Amino acid sequence: MHVVITGANRGIGKAMAERYRAAGHSVTGTARDGSEAVTLDVTDTAQHADMAQKLNGQPIDLLICNAGVYLDKGQSIDGYAPEMWAQSFAANVMGVFLTVQALLPNLRAAKGKIAIISSQMASHTRAPGGSYIYRASKAAALNLGRNLSKDLETDGIAVGIYHPGWVKTDMGGEAGDITVDASADGLLARFEALNSNTSGCFETWDGRPHAY
Ligand code: NDP
Repeated sequence: MHVVITGANRGIGKAMAERYRAAGHSVTGTARDGSEAVTLDVTDTAQHADMAQKLNGQPIDLLICNAGVYLDKGQSIDGYAPEMWAQSFAANVMGVFLTVQALLPNLRAAKGKIAIISSQMASHTRAPGGSYIYRASKAAALNLGRNLSKDLETDGIAVGIYHPGWVKTDMGGEAGDITVDASADGLLARFEALNSNTSGCFETWDGRPHAY
């Protein structure tokens, strides 16, 4: 299986890449710091074009849109800068769309799957307040995934959207509920289970449907 993972240089992305590699799969990791096979800032259209060229003709069985930022963590409501909105939506929403768009021929060639790492903070029904930008951007990523699942149905490409848990990474912090290993193990099982009948699902790392 050929797996492409954005943001594979640290955190959950790195743990997922390690697992697929250990299982003998071909992994194309992307990172904006140049440490992976493909250098990709997901907000950069020129780098998306370079990636598409580099992977031209290589079918992709699974694309994991994992890269993301949480810029307004702990931000008070008075302190929101417009740039923070723009940067967050560029990475968490547009970045997902551009990655899918760039690799669509590869995904079509394999009838591959797309996994979008969103968050429980995308939920409309569970809205405790705060983190306005992150919540809105992850809600948009969820919406994007749900709509992609419809459009890509005829191509045989299933799309799943996932909450990875509150994970002890740079983003999640030490207080997180679960280790990066537990999150990655759970997510890999979810991706394996994803199929045309479950396309459009919003699930937690441990296999529970999440409220939209
Ligand atoms: P980390 O902060 O540990 O890692 C984030 C990754 O995303 C890094 O590889 C980072 O690269 C990359 N990234 C950020 N912006 C860009 C960009 N513009 N272009 C390319 N890569 C980028 O986060 P986690 O591993 O914890 O999170 C992974 C995903 O899981 C994210 O989408 C996050 O929102 C989501 N998530 C995490 C939760 C948690 O508790 N940890 C909870 C819910 C969702 P670089 O090293 O260059 O910054």
